[in-house]
Amino acid sequence: MTTQDTRSTQSAEGTDSGESADGAHVTIIGAGLGGLTLARVLHVHGIPATVYEAEASPTARAQGGMLDIHDYNGQLALETAGLTDEFRDLILEGREAIRVLGPDGTLLFDKADDGTGVRPEVLRGELRRMLLDSLPAGTVRWGHKVSGTRTLGAGRHEVTFSDGTTVVTSLLVGADGAWSRVRPLLTAATPEYVGMSFVETYLFDSDTRHPASAKAVGGGSLFALTPGRGILAHRESGGTLHTYVMLSESREWFAGIDFTDPAAVTARIAKEFDGWAPELTALITDGETAPVLRPLNALPVGHRWDRVPGVTLLGDAAHLSVPNGEGANLAMYDGAELGKALAARPEDVEGALAEYEQAMFTRGAEAAAEGTELHELLYGDKTPHSLIAMFTGGEGDDQTP
Ligand SMILES: Cc1cc2nc3c(=O)[nH]c(=O)nc-3n(C[C@H](O)[C@H](O)[C@H](O)COP(=O)(O)OP(=O)(O)OC[C@H]3O[C@@H](n4cnc5c(N)ncnc54)[C@H](O)[C@@H]3O)c2cc1C
Repeated sequence: MTTQDTRSTQSAEGTDSGESADGAHVTIIGAGLGGLTLARVLHVHGIPATVYEAEASPTARAQGGMLDIHDYNGQLALETAGLTDEFRDLILEGREAIRVLGPDGTLLFDKADDGTGVRPEVLRGELRRMLLDSLPAGTVRWGHKVSGTRTLGAGRHEVTFSDGTTVVTSLLVGADGAWSRVRPLLTAATPEYVGMSFVETYLFDSDTRHPASAKAVGGGSLFALTPGRGILAHRESGGTLHTYVMLSESREWFAGIDFTDPAAVTARIAKEFDGWAPELTALITDGETAPVLRPLNALPVGHRWDRVPGVTLLGDAAHLSVPNGEGANLAMYDGAELGKALAARPEDVEGALAEYEQAMFTRGAEAAAEGTELHELLYGDKTPHSLIAMFTGGEGDDQTP
């Protein structure tokens, strides 16, 4: 690689020289699935990288949520990372089952997991742990929250952390998600609210403590949707039911609810589901953790930028979309593709970045457009019939948000 990595960390006390300035070092911001996949693929090819992550430690935040990993992107990325066997060990069997219920609890669609599905489900936290374990010790610098970035010219960039320290790099990758601090180096685009949010709840040991809700959710995913309102739930490991309550409401509407008061949130959200079957509303009212608000935002579909030397983006930082079951898969795929491109053209980093970006723009735009269609099928005026038609009519497979 011809780029000179001139990393140096300035502390308040003076210069804390970073690691080797050996001319082949990639600076990645964000230890999500995308950034870690990139770091792993670079490692496989002998290219050193440092990942700066805002969170204080690998366990600082629950990484809950099940992800179905697709054979056309997420699984390919893990293969490139040389982690297919480790990934297979994480698969939760039987979780590809799907049920669609009406608000009164009527079963509208039921598909068992017969073992022929191609979208195995794993826990996000376990996938992240697997990627972390595959990296050399010290690759991830925890507790490094980026507060700003600036161009120094000639492909070099300075990254400033919230404690005032800085790093200068000649190859910077923003893998820092929806509110990327690296993105402004490339584009002025920012995510916008898409008009709906999820409220997240958990029920534990559901088979013994919440049997009616456990039965309603079944072995995999539950969809109980009406236009503008819905309950989506997954059975995770150990009888844990993880629910996303969907509400098409404005930011202001949610701002009127005090999310520091879990009981008030539960009561207010449950009120929106008055008259729904008790086994469904219990997924809200019996929640055993404080409900968490997840506002949904997206970048413009087809968002792209002109090449800027020495910096690029991947995953949500590049193409945040309405939830479409692809985001984590695409982030890992971007990471793997970027890693491969850099390994293939060590003497032409700019060529590698340009090639990576062109393909990434296309797949990000396609996924976002498909995501918008899926969004309409799931949450639009014709749900749940549009959703059932998708499951039965071959318009798509089991796609979860
Ligand atoms: C409710 C919900 C459900 C979803 N379900 C699915 C699903 O089922 N399947 C699927 O494929 N996708 C799903 N997605 C989308 C998926 O979560 C994202 O697309 C995916 O996590 C993007 O990965 P990433 O690595 O690009 O970013 P992230 O996972 O967001 O990781 C970014 C990392 O950067 C760190 N970071 C952020 N800012 C800074 C900073 N300033 N300095 C340093 N570090 C920073 C963060 O702490 C984080 O670790 C869902 C999204 C939501 C909101």
